[in-house]
Amino acid sequence: MSAIAQQRCRNHAQREAVARCPECKRYFCRECIVEHDSRVVCAACLANLAGEKQEKKWRISGVAQAGQLLLGMFLLWTCFYMLGRTLLTVPSDFHAITYWQSEVAGIDE
Ligand SMILES: [Zn+2]
Ligand SMILES: [Zn+2]
Repeated sequence: MSAIAQQRCRNHAQREAVARCPECKRYFCRECIVEHDSRVVCAACLANLAGEKQEKKWRISGVAQAGQLLLGMFLLWTCFYMLGRTLLTVPSDFHAITYWQSEVAGIDE
């Protein structure tokens, strides 16, 4: 079993192979090998095993994540926008009310 030590990763010529993919019978380094269904296969074979459906799911989840990110940014922007508007409008109203109140108080006195 010393043969594997002399093998190099199919993707990384500089790296020693640590495992052999049972699907394509090629040698791979630790980074290129993935555990799948209690088996160790290479990334390329994992993609083949997962099939088109899985790939589509990943794409959809990616789109959903991007959508969530956009939604989050939009909500954040809305929050800041509303906060900005509130900060702009509240002080003038506040001053108007206190001015009116002080006027009323002045009449009372
Ligand atoms: Zn493979
Ligand atoms: Zn590798």
